[in-house]
Amino acid sequence: MPEAPDQNPMMSGFSVAENNKKKLDFIEDVTSNPDQIQQQVLSEILSRNANVEYLMRHGLNGHTDRDTFKKTLPVISYEDILPDITRIANGDTSPILCSRPISEFLTSSGTSAGERKMMPTIEEELGRRSLLYSLLMPVMSQFVPGLDKGKGMYFLFIKCESKTPGGLPARPVLTSYYKSSHFMDRPYDPYTNYTSPNEAILCPDSYQSMYSQMLCGLCQHNEVLRVGAVFASGFIRAIRFLEKHWALLCHDIRTGTLNSLITDQGVREAVMRILKPDPKLAEFVESECKKGSWQGIITRLWPNTKYVDVIVTGTMSQYIPTLDYYSNGLPLVCTMYASSECYFGVNLNPLCKPSDVSYTLIPTMAYFEFLPVHRNDSLSNSIAVPVSLNEKEQHELVDLAHVKHGQEYELVVTTYAGLYRYRVGDVLRVAGFKNKAPQFNFICRKNVVLSIDSDKTDEVELQAAVMSAVGHLEPFGASLTEYTSYADTSSIPGHYVLYWELSHNRSIPIPPSVFEDCCLTVEESLNSVYRQHRAYEAIGPLEIRIVQGGTFDKLMDYAISLGASINQYKTPRCVKFAPIVELLNSRMESSFFSPKCPKFTAAAAPHSQWSTDN
Ligand code: AMP
Repeated sequence: MPEAPDQNPMMSGFSVAENNKKKLDFIEDVTSNPDQIQQQVLSEILSRNANVEYLMRHGLNGHTDRDTFKKTLPVISYEDILPDITRIANGDTSPILCSRPISEFLTSSGTSAGERKMMPTIEEELGRRSLLYSLLMPVMSQFVPGLDKGKGMYFLFIKCESKTPGGLPARPVLTSYYKSSHFMDRPYDPYTNYTSPNEAILCPDSYQSMYSQMLCGLCQHNEVLRVGAVFASGFIRAIRFLEKHWALLCHDIRTGTLNSLITDQGVREAVMRILKPDPKLAEFVESECKKGSWQGIITRLWPNTKYVDVIVTGTMSQYIPTLDYYSNGLPLVCTMYASSECYFGVNLNPLCKPSDVSYTLIPTMAYFEFLPVHRNDSLSNSIAVPVSLNEKEQHELVDLAHVKHGQEYELVVTTYAGLYRYRVGDVLRVAGFKNKAPQFNFICRKNVVLSIDSDKTDEVELQAAVMSAVGHLEPFGASLTEYTSYADTSSIPGHYVLYWELSHNRSIPIPPSVFEDCCLTVEESLNSVYRQHRAYEAIGPLEIRIVQGGTFDKLMDYAISLGASINQYKTPRCVKFAPIVELLNSRMESSFFSPKCPKFTAAAAPHSQWSTDN
């Protein structure tokens, strides 16, 4: 198997160019014989974990070959291993899923029974994540030279963490990474030279963290060559923050003093190493922010910026117009595809259009399998795939080297941390090949209908939430005849919109407060990730738009005019297509918003008492 290159080039005395070449050679190597590498990865995972309880329970009996593995082990979802995960969380340190000690739990933005999923992980996975990160800039510098001559302004944040009853940390994967020595003690590298001091990134108070990162970004504005955040929504939130707080920030730049709301001592000291009184810069920032229009604000304030580094694939594509507006059409670069379960791959053509982005899965990261997805396209943006697989479907899974161009698949991984044939929940389409390794477009997260940030609401959950709210209408002789939903990101933060068509004889009028109660009940029924995002205002209040009688018939007529079959027509539970949204809006009678933030009282999930992440 190709040796992973050193992750810290400057430590090993390599020049930037030499290091870039090493990393690019590694990519050439691993993409040239993915099948052989995948076989070795699987064999390594299975041999080192031969004695773990899970593999013994399924009767793998120490086999490490693909055929036996595929015949013996089921394709699973989170719920199948939840009892094992709960045992580990409760402190059972025996080798249940993995022979290596579990170092922590990664809290995924995916949910199960309304609670975040918890992925056990091991220390060495941090090395694999670092390896993937270390490939990004060598790839990028093939297309944009000179990035080692300036800084990246990245808005990076940690979230609060909790501890499992067994005492292990439970936190999001990025929090884990930023707190690790791989990030904190990184030796000097021109590619990880950020405008944000570590202290600001690691500050748990999101206001203080954002304020100080923005301030440092402004102070170093001429050095900034690239800007970004992990997801598009996070970057837009930073720009919104600037819109609201530029006057305070300018005051600090003018006087060289830091706002007293920044109380974290470490952050204060780190910012004060960068902040110097600069009345000219303050005046410049103020004059730009004061202008009526914020179009091109990124290129105006950070004039040397070459691209915006944010994920705009998947549901994040809804933010492309806003980013284009703020950046005056700078390239939007999606560099990587990753999850709590595993980091998957990189975009080898980062300057391509967002709609053409494809990710090359790095075959050393994990063992990958692909479940073919047969979709019957509807107006909804979700793809429904079976919850559990029958024997035939289990046999349909194909290996990384054998996927077909143009075909869509659900991604299934076997990881070093102890997930075996685990369905990640993402649907990918083969877009092409790098050497012999496939490259995938990210299509969607299966079954997810609504998403504003990293929240993911599926159809079943939405249905349950709507049903729990409609009870408020009963005393008024009203009932819900049809509904659909829409993720409205035209204002920031974006919010969920529900379109409701009611049957109501209007003899008892329905007061607005009842609809507001409906909004709140829907929100309180949604998962904890949604409610947490509401709390820190990454998602705005949910809105219900009441539409005229007959609207959903019109929607059906429209779908049929576009070629949908009358027999198979089903009301889409989420709409995205602009003409349909316009049709619904044109028939709106009234609209109501949730009057307050939903509560966090977590559902009765096994780990609800300790999984509070915020
Ligand atoms: P989490 O486990 O909370 O880190 O979420 C991981 C999920 O985020 C993935 O399974 C994808 O659904 C989504 N995701 C991650 N990277 C990308 C990307 N580059 N494009 C689209 N979706 C992504």
